[in-house]
This record gives sequence, C-alpha cells and structure tokens, in this order.
Amino acid sequence: MRKHNFSAGPAALPDAVLRQAQEEFRDWNNTGASVMEHSHRGEHFLQVATEAENDLRNLLDISDDYAVLFMHGGATAQFAAIPLNLLGTAKTANYLESGHWSRRAIKEAEIYCQPNIVAQLNNNKQGINLPPIAQWRIDDKAAYFHCVYNETIDGLELESFPDVNMPLLVDCSSNILSRPMPVERFSVIYAGAQKNIGPAGLAVVIIRRDLLDRAHPLTPSILNYGTVATAKSMHNTPPTFAWYLSGLVFKWLLAEGGLLAMQEKNKRNAASLYETIDSVDLYSNNLAKSVRSKMNIPFLLADERLNKPFLEQADENGLLGLKGHRSVGGMRASIYNAVPIESVQVLVAFMRTFAKEHG
Ligand SMILES: *Cc1c(COP(=O)(O)O)cnc(C)c1O
Repeated sequence: MRKHNFSAGPAALPDAVLRQAQEEFRDWNNTGASVMEHSHRGEHFLQVATEAENDLRNLLDISDDYAVLFMHGGATAQFAAIPLNLLGTAKTANYLESGHWSRRAIKEAEIYCQPNIVAQLNNNKQGINLPPIAQWRIDDKAAYFHCVYNETIDGLELESFPDVNMPLLVDCSSNILSRPMPVERFSVIYAGAQKNIGPAGLAVVIIRRDLLDRAHPLTPSILNYGTVATAKSMHNTPPTFAWYLSGLVFKWLLAEGGLLAMQEKNKRNAASLYETIDSVDLYSNNLAKSVRSKMNIPFLLADERLNKPFLEQADENGLLGLKGHRSVGGMRASIYNAVPIESVQVLVAFMRTFAKEHG
C-alpha cells in the first residue's frame, strides 16, 4: 500500500507516472530494453530529451530567449556554477539571506567572491519575516542578485522580487511548477529535481542565452553553462533515467491542466493546513503570514514530548515524511504537486484527532 507522502525531498511522485514507468521499465517503447539501457545519443533517448524540454517550455511559457539545461549535481552544483559563470570581473554578488538554502548558496559563493548580504531574517510580532525590499542593501556594482524563492526548511516563500539593474537569479528547487511564474522577470531560474520535478541527480536551469558566454576560464566544463548549452545538455552522459522520469512528470502536469490547475490544488492544500495549525492550540507556525510557504509547511507542537507519539501515530495512519528538519525541529508537511487533496484531508483529520487526545 502506498502511503500519504509529505517528504521534503526526495519527495512524492505522481502515482500515474510511477505506474507508467513500472509498465515500461524492462521494455521501453517496444525497444527491447529499458530506457536506462539505451545510449543517451540514440534516437530513442534524444526524443525523450527533446519532448521533456518542449513540455517544460510549454508548462512555464519559456521563450526562445532562454536556454533550458538539464544538469548534474542538484541545486548545490548550481551554487558553484553561478559565481563561476556569472561573476565576470566583479568582486561581489548580492545574496538575499532568507534561510538555510540561501546560507548554503552564500557559503559556496564565498569560495569565489565576497558576497554582499542584502538582508536577513528578523523576528517581530508578525513572526519570522524579511525586512521590506526598500530596506535591502543592494550593491549596484555587484555581478548579480541571487535569492531562494522558497526556503524548503524554514518554510518561507518570497512575496516579490526587487527591481535590479543586474541579472536576477532564483533558486526555485522546491516551488518550481507549483504555479505559473513570470520567467521573463529572471535571468536564471534553477531547481534541483527531487522536490517538485522528478528523481534526484538532476537540476533544471533556465538561463537567458546572452549569459551563456561569461564563464571564468577555470570553470569545470560540466558546470560551464555555455558548454552545456552547446552540447544540448549532453557534454557528458546525463542522468538519463531522471531526465526520462521528469519528462513523464511534465506530461502528467500538462494532462492535469497545467500550472493553473496545480496552483488551485496547492492553494487549497496550503489553506487547509494553515487553517488547522492556526485554529488548533496544540500547533503553531512562527512565520509572518505574508511569507508563509505554500509548499513546505513547518509546524511545532506545543509540547516537544509529543513529537515522538505524533510521528508514530502518523505513521500508523499511513502518513509519511512529517519529521521537521533537524535545524528547525517539530514537523514539516511538504505538499508538492504530487500530493493530492485527499492526502492533506487525511493529515488534517489526523492532526485534529491527535490534538483532541493530547491537548
Ligand atoms: C533541496 C534544496 C537545495 C539542495 O538541493 P540538492 O539537489 O540536494 O543539491 C537547494 N535549494 C533549495 C531551495 C532546496 O530545497
């Protein structure tokens, strides 16, 4: 029996996609071999690769001004690829520090430059929040502006982006494809696959083509955006199975009604979880309402000693992956595209019953 999966990443995949992959696992498209056993340069896999890119372009409405890259190494490889490719002669780059993953991006950037931290989290009576954009200290001479759209661990999703006179780069690892987004607003959009796209091992990078030729001469070729773009993401052997499965997810999203349909479902799921957390005394979420994530919802129990029984009983009720990140504690429900409304209904009902029994 498959359980209701709230894992943060690797995370739930659509059941229909897993079934299809299972059906064609050993003999794919009547080729007599699995997709993993074909050359990445053969006509069969090339078709998978092309369709995946086209379907992603359709879903996000990506214009031809952008290249779409399928790269190795998850989002963490991009933390290095970005300064290597985009610093140019600048000594600094702007980084918004909105939580765990922006700190990881900053730490990697420190190898290559002196990042300028434009703003950090504060905690006032509205809860954990960022200062208003007008107060951010943006360095106009920096090479670019980097931010994390959705902080997967902290549960903070940006409300808006600053107008800057430099490339605006965004890590969308945990909220890409959760709803439509204005691609043209950004110079680089990137995401590790294992949250809202497909299996781990792959990152999608959407990059304005005029930024493809700026890499530092010491950039490793597999991290060089220009090299990867010219080779159509096949400078070396790509993670073919992850690419194929991500392609199946894109087709599933299109069949489900695209990103507007996902937005509707995700909004409903987030609203019913926050409503439960806010109305039941046992639970709390300490982020300012305006920046609460619609994808990763952390919550604390009023008494830490209840964490263990909560997780045990959740598991008995078929609810998986609710333990919060060790740096934050408590619980976290990740409600990506593949998490259906019924799963959140089961979770909410469980949370209310648990609170009645332990409140
Ligand atoms: C998970 C995550 C990362 C790191 O992804 P890896 O694929 O493990 O490198 C980076 N940024 C965000 C926002 C994430 O959620």
